[in-house]
Amino acid sequence: MDIRGLTKFSLIDFPGKLACILYAGGCNFRCPYCHNPHLVLNPEIQPRLSDQFIFSFLENRRGKLEGVVLSGGEPSAHPGLVGFSEKIKALGYLIKIDTNGSNPDAVADAHGKGLVDALGIDYKTTASSYGDLTKCGIDDIAGLVRKTISYAISNNVSVDVRTTIHKKLHTPEVLMQMRGELNSLGVAAWTLQQFHDAEIIDDSLSGDPTYSDAELIGIAGGLGNHTRVRGLKGSFIFNS
Ligand code: SF4
Repeated sequence: MDIRGLTKFSLIDFPGKLACILYAGGCNFRCPYCHNPHLVLNPEIQPRLSDQFIFSFLENRRGKLEGVVLSGGEPSAHPGLVGFSEKIKALGYLIKIDTNGSNPDAVADAHGKGLVDALGIDYKTTASSYGDLTKCGIDDIAGLVRKTISYAISNNVSVDVRTTIHKKLHTPEVLMQMRGELNSLGVAAWTLQQFHDAEIIDDSLSGDPTYSDAELIGIAGGLGNHTRVRGLKGSFIFNS
């Protein structure tokens, strides 16, 4: 796989596990709030980590780390996902894949081969707005994402369905509609993540006001069905 970044240690990205994070270069979405614009738009400007480096690191961390998060960018868009994951598994690690959900068949293939222990799946907006927000040009993108989520639910995969929230994109009415759509898929826990005002794809969002923590917690409380809020430091600030 084309890996362009490594976080050596995380307590929050693989629930309940000590993990490292590997970042795959490139993505088929262009979310305006994406805070990895270089990884998405110009992955080649960041050094590619060799397999030798990655697996030497993982070999050395055996017994210290429990899991590997494959994030990005979009890891499921890489044809080498299965082979790469098999090598990680051979070292005894658990694997979580963070995905935008656009490749349900790739996720199902990896899971069916016993290579996926947990998933993080983005649910970015209402089904009718999905193409506009993600600017991906993929037919029925909402249907593909919903298929990925349904796969996780029906196969009892540990899954964190999450949405990065900006006031300009996610009015309370939009969030209520999204909650209904997730309910229809059988999703209970849904994580609303505070927008991180860093370098992003659409700089205009940085200048627009978004929700305070208190406002977002208030909205989440009205959505019901275990809607929770993750603050900017990564920990939950509301857990219904
Ligand atoms: S799916 Fe994720 S990595 Fe891709 S553009 Fe959107 S936020 Fe960025």
